[in-house]
Formats: sequence, structure tokens, C-alpha cells
Amino acid sequence: MATKYIFFTGGVVSSVGKGVTAAALGLLLKERGFDVSVQKLDPYINVDPGTMSPYQHGEVFVLDDGAETDLDLGHYERFIDNPLTQASNFTSGQVYAEVIAKERRGDYLGGTIQVIPHITNEIKHRIGLAAKVTEAEILLVEIGGTVGDIESQPFMEVLRQMRNEVGRENIFFVHVTWLPHIGATGELKTKPTQHSVAELRGIGVSPNMIIARSDYFVEQELIDKIALFCDVEKRAVVPMTTTDTLYEVPLRLEKAGVADFVIEKLELKAKKKANLKKWEELVEKVHREKPTIKVALVGKYVELQDAYMSVRESLRHAALSLDVKDEISWIYSADLEKGKGWDELKSADAIVVPGGFGERGTEGKILAAKYARENKIPYLGLCLGMQLMCIEFARNVLGLEDANSTEFDPNTEDPVIDLMLDQRDISDMGGTMRLGLYPCVLKEGSRAAAAYGKKEVIERHRHRFEFNNAYREKFEKKGMIFSGVSPDNRLVEISELADHPFMVSSQFHPEFLSRPMRPHPLFVGFVKAAKEAKKR
Ligand code: GLN
Repeated sequence: MATKYIFFTGGVVSSVGKGVTAAALGLLLKERGFDVSVQKLDPYINVDPGTMSPYQHGEVFVLDDGAETDLDLGHYERFIDNPLTQASNFTSGQVYAEVIAKERRGDYLGGTIQVIPHITNEIKHRIGLAAKVTEAEILLVEIGGTVGDIESQPFMEVLRQMRNEVGRENIFFVHVTWLPHIGATGELKTKPTQHSVAELRGIGVSPNMIIARSDYFVEQELIDKIALFCDVEKRAVVPMTTTDTLYEVPLRLEKAGVADFVIEKLELKAKKKANLKKWEELVEKVHREKPTIKVALVGKYVELQDAYMSVRESLRHAALSLDVKDEISWIYSADLEKGKGWDELKSADAIVVPGGFGERGTEGKILAAKYARENKIPYLGLCLGMQLMCIEFARNVLGLEDANSTEFDPNTEDPVIDLMLDQRDISDMGGTMRLGLYPCVLKEGSRAAAAYGKKEVIERHRHRFEFNNAYREKFEKKGMIFSGVSPDNRLVEISELADHPFMVSSQFHPEFLSRPMRPHPLFVGFVKAAKEAKKR
């Protein structure tokens, strides 16, 4: 069977939930028995999001194979729960780099290199590749940004070309737009949607479906108007008001008949009846009254919560599985250094210190770790959060006052966190860290082993620095347990404190493997410890 393609474009504004919509539709199709996969095309020129500031772009999501990708891939994996690959995300930067490299090699035999066909062919090649490596029957492809962006033009041109090349019955275009609300008159407006569809049609692409996002209820009259002006069937105009949980989106789309409409147009027949019971239960759980656990997230990028998307979702998954409500208080770590934010920190039931790069705010995170250790507050450290927990322990328990990571102080007398050997000669910043899945052996009787209920696990990584083995014995003597190590025992993967209800940290990123239906064991252990501490 030929691969079927569903393309998602955005109109009016960005950040209206195109990624979640694609992920949710993917789930509905998977539930109908199809092999689905999702791909994200990012029109910016960066080669990958790995080197982009989380302030601008939100979290970098890491896959099994170590690809550093856009945060939307996190939504895809959380909803659809099929592992994605390097081929599932690419940028204009990668496309241009590849075409230019070919030109330098002489592959084009002196021809003139142009956006059409050379850039567009490379884009099509990469879309086809994703379909091939994931063996998807249906590939959902999200184009980043909004229609009209100058960078996204070659991608829109590809959609136009593909409609003819793969055949109309094999391709479906979903356009996700936003209906602004005018406060003075209390009206929702469709005009920006009309304009963005006009823009799309100008490039030669007519959407088959419009998902109209809004913060307010959308009247039938407006739906009819969008259908008329944008030339789509009435039943293909789907209003999507903002939900209070992302996990409700698939249920809403299902109710609106979106998946059935799409497969009808793609000339497919469902292989089985979709069963969304687990999702209904999950949403019902979200809405149920339950005790609150307050978690302080001490980070650097707290103004943009998207920077910690997977951590936030993992806390939610764990909390729901334990029938508690997680309330995150976002604490800017540099504030703690200035004596600010302490009331907030002290009112929390548990503390999480997530990953990060660079020195700013690290002393504040160390103070948070000290507070958690001394006051026996459950603490979960993720990557940098583990490194800082070890530095705090070295300084305040072992009395190594100058202890630090060579990332922040290259001349520290006690480099308890140091560059990994194979990282020393690397000067290129993109894709050069220790990335992706690596195994980790757990120590019997540890909290980590109890949380996982296993002897060996495999987790996703993204770091350059590691715990310095020269200090292992000293730490162990004073009550630090290295409860997870690489199978050759050369790398510390999990550290925990013996004399503490739950102070457990990992060098890897458990947040990338937590799923709504399979909350991550370390997050569950952490929230459970907070719940128990609260009871006492
Ligand atoms: N900056 C640290 C390192 O490179 C931690 C990285 C992280 O938290 N992802 O090792």
C-alpha cells in the first residue's frame, strides 16, 4: 500500500497547538489499527534545535537514537507512544547543508542550484525517508511556523508538488488556525483564518480540514462561515476550544469525527474500533478532586515553561497515577542566591532540579539541594540536577569547599564533576554530547532499584560532564550511594542519599521516557515520597 500523508500547517499565529493536534490525530489513527508515525519539519536555518536557547525554542527533546529534536516530538511520543528516530525531525538548515555539501562534491555536475527543484527535492527525499524508516502506513507531517513565513515557502511548495506526485487520495491537508476574540464586542473573528487560507491557496494548497482553535465556544454560524469562505466541507471545520488538559484533545477530536473523516478521504477503512477508554479515565482523573502536592521546580528558564515541557508532563503522569494533583511552583534559581524565592521553596512538598547548561543560577540550585538534604525534603535531580546534588554534598558534607564542576570552574581544586574523557577534544557544539539510550545497572536494595523494580534499565542521555570517579569512595563513605552505573562501572548514572527519604538523581533524563499510561518509575518514586511525607 502507498504511504498516506497528512500534512499540518498553521495559520494566523504560532503556538496554537498544531503539534498536540497532530499527536492526538496520530493516536486516533493508531487506535484504528494503522501503523502511524509523525514527522516535524522546522523551517528555521539552525541545523538542529540542540544548540538553540530554550528561551527561544523551549525544550530540546532527545530520542532513543540520540537525535536532539523539537519539543513537539515529545507530544508525539507521549500520545502515540511509538519511538521516533533521527528521520522524524529536520530543519531547513539540514536541507541546505546537505544540498550545499552535494554541490561542493560536484554531484550536480556544474548545474545551477535552486530552491526548486534542488531544495524541494531534498525535502521530499527526507519526508519519504521518514515514511520508509518508520514503516508508517500513515505519516503525519507537521510544518513548523505559520503560513506566510518566508522560511516555510519551500515546504509549502513541496506540499503542492506532492499532491500531484502521490495522488490526491493519498494526501490530506489539515490547517490549524486561531480565532481571536474581541473583548469589546465579545465576538470571535474568522477573518485572519480566511486570510491564512487565501495565502495557502495562493501557493496552490487547499486545505481539506480546518481546525479552528479558540478560547471561547464557537457557534455553528461561524463554522458555516469558515466553510463557505475557505471552501472546505462544513463537517471538516472543527472548532477546538482550549482544554484544561492536553490529554483531552484526542477525545475532542474523536467526538468531532475527525479521524473517520480523514480516513474516508484517504480511502482507508479502520482495521479496528478505536478504544479510548484509558484516555477517558485519564481525563476523568485529571478533573477529579484530589490532594495537592506542591513541587518546586528550581530552574533557569522558568519564564518559559515550555523549556521544561517533559519534566512538567512527567510530574503530571506520576501524580495522576498516585491520585494526587501536582502543583508546580516555578522558582528562578538565581533568585535563591539573592535571598529571594525562599518562602516559595520552603512551602513546597518536594523539589526538582532539572537539566541545564552554563553557570548562571547553579549556586541557587546548589542551595536548593542543600535545603532538601538538610530538611529531608524529597529531591529529584535530572542530569545537571544530579551534578549539583553531588557538588553540594562534596562542599557541605565532605568539607571540600571549592568543589565544583569544571563546566563552571575549570580551575576548581576539587572537580567532582568533570568532562568525560571522550568529550575532551570536541570543539563542535552540535550533536556531540553523550546522547540517547545507554544501559544502567541498578544496585540491589537502593531506592532506585525499588522504584524501577528491575536490575537493569535503559535511559536517554544528553550531557558532556560526569561524576569524577576519583571521588567515588569518599562520597560513599559519607552516605552517598551510586545506585545506578554503566554496565562497565565507569559512569555514574544514579546517585542517592542513604539517610534521606528520597534524594535521588540521575545523570540521564527520565522525563523523555515518561508516558501518560506508563509514568516513569523515578518520578513515581519521587511523588510518592512527597505524598508520604505530607501524610506524616
Ligand atoms: N551541563 C551538564 C553537562 O553537560 C548537564 C547537562 C544537562 O543537564 N542536560 O553535563
